[in-house]
Amino acid sequence: MADEKICPVCKKAMTLKEKSYPMGSALFKADRFHVDIYACDTCGHVELCEAKSDLVKCPVCGNMHSPKEKCAICALNKGLDTANQ
Ligand SMILES: [Zn+2]
Ligand SMILES: [Zn+2]
Repeated sequence: MADEKICPVCKKAMTLKEKSYPMGSALFKADRFHVDIYACDTCGHVELCEAKSDLVKCPVCGNMHSPKEKCAICALNKGLDTANQ
């Protein structure tokens, strides 16, 4: 595996526990910081890696968002449509 992480403590391969986990959502709502969380099963050491390139583009409005979340723009538009009907 090309992007395999090696534990700096015990030099064993680390497991990807969370992909594109959103950090600091309250402070940076417009530009959320996403991280990949790796954990070593052997010694429990945890490493965070920036995962900004992992955003997906919404096919409807073109907004970039995390694959774990729904598109915020479309969710907002849907809410407005429902209110107008
Ligand atoms: Zn380790
Ligand atoms: Zn959208």
